[in-house]
Amino acid sequence: MTALRINGARLLERHKLMAGFGETGNGGVIRPALSDEETSARLALLNLARERGFACSVDPIGNLFIRRKGADEGRAPLRMGSHLDSQIPGGNFDGVYGVIAGFEVLETLEDHKVASDAPIEVVVWNNEEGARFSPTTMGSAVHAGQLSLDKALGSFDQDGNRLGDELARSLTQLGPLKSIELGSESLAYVEAHIEQGPILEQNEIPIGVVTGIQGIVQFEVRITGEEAHAGTTPRSRRKDAFWAALDLTAQLRSVTADKDDAIRFTVGRLTVLPGSPNTVPAKVAFTIDLRHPDEALLASVHTQIYQAAETLQTPCEISVITTLNSPPVCFAAKVISSIERQAAEVGLDTARIASGATHDAKFMAPLCPTGMIFIPCRDGISHNENEWADPEHMIAGANTLLGVITELTRAKPT
Ligand SMILES: [Zn+2]
Repeated sequence: MTALRINGARLLERHKLMAGFGETGNGGVIRPALSDEETSARLALLNLARERGFACSVDPIGNLFIRRKGADEGRAPLRMGSHLDSQIPGGNFDGVYGVIAGFEVLETLEDHKVASDAPIEVVVWNNEEGARFSPTTMGSAVHAGQLSLDKALGSFDQDGNRLGDELARSLTQLGPLKSIELGSESLAYVEAHIEQGPILEQNEIPIGVVTGIQGIVQFEVRITGEEAHAGTTPRSRRKDAFWAALDLTAQLRSVTADKDDAIRFTVGRLTVLPGSPNTVPAKVAFTIDLRHPDEALLASVHTQIYQAAETLQTPCEISVITTLNSPPVCFAAKVISSIERQAAEVGLDTARIASGATHDAKFMAPLCPTGMIFIPCRDGISHNENEWADPEHMIAGANTLLGVITELTRAKPT
């Protein structure tokens, strides 16, 4: 028997269809969560699913589940998926690729009458981007019990619209949907996604086997000195908060300059007060965003940041607060090895890679064996209208996903 392959032309056609919802005219989309544009994209997908006889459900936070029946309907479904919402503006690949690749797997299994033991579902997570409503990865966080439903429904966008109301409005446009409870069991979860970074493209590797999602620690640093006249105050008398910030960040840059370039250290916001050209600044506040896949290393740098702040030679006061501490997530060995095996079976090179960005898979990992398949994206660009992935890589990723899903559900042609 020849190996099963997805229908590449149909995958690209579905991709083009989705790109029409919220199209900006500059190659990207504006399709924030629960907007009319995202609702239309969701409806188009649901209509395709209904045509194929797949059951469509929704949970209380607006995650959609498209199900192809298994031989044993009593088993927990194997799930694939991602999201259809975008940044404002965003590209045509982030999220949507994982949804259409998953849907193509369902259609391929249906075309070839392949029976799977467990049911197989595509999940469209609600509000992954967090661009309109906060926080990001909301749908999967609520599904996993890591964020309360009430808090999520009570989130407001910048125009004062409540998420719960916008969800209700969106649902009235989606046609009949069965209700599914939060946190229903999954056999496994596999998400296909563009890398959103440059590594696969640089190394000409079509398939990234994602080992996990790196941890993030964020800090707020406040430095207090003393305001003084810029023209009359000698160096020895100054308590210049800006110079202290420069010395501290320079030290932290060397602490985080690892030789394999895996630590991500960013000072993304810095405020200097009072902000007058002729006053020595008395107050500086800045943020630090620190990321790495290894929990122990992250903890060690975390400590070093506090130590550097305590021991800095400065007449100013320094306080450091940790504002976010999200540990790294490791994906299941079983899913990682399946992705490697199935990519090899399709004749594709693979490399193991940690995800620099966060994804819905992060919240699935504690619930069931979870993994992700990355495909390269041009110049590593994402959250940008110029986001682009090669059609050949899109097809390669979907074929790998098909192999993994088939393996994990022991699907066989009837
Ligand atoms: Zn995404």
